[in-house]
Amino acid sequence: MTTTSHNVLPEELEDLVALFDVRGTDEPTPDAEREEALAAPRFGTVFTDHMARVSWRQEDGWLDRRVEKYGPLQLDPATAVLHYAQEIFEGMKAYKHADGSVWTFRPEANADRFARSAHRLALPALTVDDFIGSIAALVRTDRAWVPGGEDSSLYLRPFMFASEPFLGVRPAAEVEYLCIASPVGPYFAGGVKPVSIWVSQDYHRAGPGGTGNAKCGGNYAASLLPQTEAQQNGCDQVCFLDASTNSYLEELGGMNIFVVMDDGTVHTPELTGSILEGITRKSILQLVADRGHEVVERRISLAEIEAGLAGGSVREMFACGTAAVVTPVGRLASSNFDHTVADGEPGELTMAIRSELTDIQYGRARDRHGWMRRLA
Ligand SMILES: *Cc1c(COP(=O)(O)O)cnc(C)c1O
Repeated sequence: MTTTSHNVLPEELEDLVALFDVRGTDEPTPDAEREEALAAPRFGTVFTDHMARVSWRQEDGWLDRRVEKYGPLQLDPATAVLHYAQEIFEGMKAYKHADGSVWTFRPEANADRFARSAHRLALPALTVDDFIGSIAALVRTDRAWVPGGEDSSLYLRPFMFASEPFLGVRPAAEVEYLCIASPVGPYFAGGVKPVSIWVSQDYHRAGPGGTGNAKCGGNYAASLLPQTEAQQNGCDQVCFLDASTNSYLEELGGMNIFVVMDDGTVHTPELTGSILEGITRKSILQLVADRGHEVVERRISLAEIEAGLAGGSVREMFACGTAAVVTPVGRLASSNFDHTVADGEPGELTMAIRSELTDIQYGRARDRHGWMRRLA
């Protein structure tokens, strides 16, 4: 598959946004109600007044680019996605900077990954231009919904699904792409707290040749039971091992993982095809290397990490993803072990990287890698 990434220049963005017909709601949320929702938003519960939308028909391609009133979709009970889960999504954020401008982080990387996920799920690729145009059109329409508080942002959820009413098993000939937006507050209300992780010995989220490196809803459905098992064992999150040998660390249900050794080297599981390539992961690899640390992408066995936690050679562990940015791991447990990571407190490099990345995203630090794109 060929998707050639290209950066969208500020002067090009105007033309991409103009392709979207804004059909504004006649019932906007009253200001007072919106301000109340923005004061203490709970993740994924409150949505803005509009959604961006583009439809696809096999014979016509992508058509009817629009921003319309947020609301329920009417679906035929035979709609393909409800039966065969032909669906993909993305997760990103819009950040308000001190001067009131609104920015997002590496959207071309999300657009490229969305196209790769589409390919794997036999869905049509949306262009980088339409992907970024839809996000900018929505954020401009619902600009008043971008929270300004510390560590707050507008979470963006682009997604695409098979909308054709048809029970046969083949790629759908009708597809809908939408982007919805939800204001979110700090992931860690009351300060960053380390999470505990349960290593699942019985379940895998992905296997060789499967959909592990596509961001599709089906992967999440498969992770819910092991996630419940982790919670029943007193842990916050589940970590999966590789399906072939059940011995190498892969990732959490929705976050990639890193290990910092006592010699200062930073390690993360290499992308084997069953791990989702996080944009946070990719960015952290860069920031850690910039600090002069040796970074190693390789197969990391659970046995090695267990020994390193017991013997003290593992200094820090953290998980990362757009929603939580960087989450310290304070404890790693499974049916046959239970280890505290160092002293159980957030690691020094973990917290330094967290601050550095969020400073870039919120415009408090210079964007030396050119990762930020202004949306509004
Ligand atoms: C989205 C996701 C991540 C994190 O990706 P980011 O681009 O950093 O947000 C990691 N693992 C899985 C399974 C995911 O779905």
